[in-house]
Amino acid sequence: MGSYDKAFIVGYVCRLCSEQKKKVIHLYSNKAQSLKLLEKIELLPIKVEKFDNLPKTICENCIERLEIQYSLIQKIQKSNLIQRSHRIYHSNGRCPIECPLHGINDSSWSVQSDSSVS
Ligand SMILES: [Zn+2]
Ligand SMILES: [Zn+2]
Repeated sequence: MGSYDKAFIVGYVCRLCSEQKKKVIHLYSNKAQSLKLLEKIELLPIKVEKFDNLPKTICENCIERLEIQYSLIQKIQKSNLIQRSHRIYHSNGRCPIECPLHGINDSSWSVQSDSSVS
């Protein structure tokens, strides 16, 4: 009885690494929703649609990699935002205290502003 069931558990194919894993999370499950998996997968160069004929499961290894990649992207976006506002604040050539990068020695900035063609 019990052994009969086991023979049929071959695992699921992971959408991201194509490996067959026993422990996977379905992309449209509650668990995936709480982990924001779909949101994170949107940042990848693939498209996942609910009714495409492709695997809807993702393995634990890939979730881990996805988390790392997601936090990296968030960090880059945040940093980009800070640098942009740094630029806006610097329109007068100084770094005021309101600037998120205030106090940071930003040599790239001064090089850029000094190297005006004369
Ligand atoms: Zn995987
Ligand atoms: Zn600044």
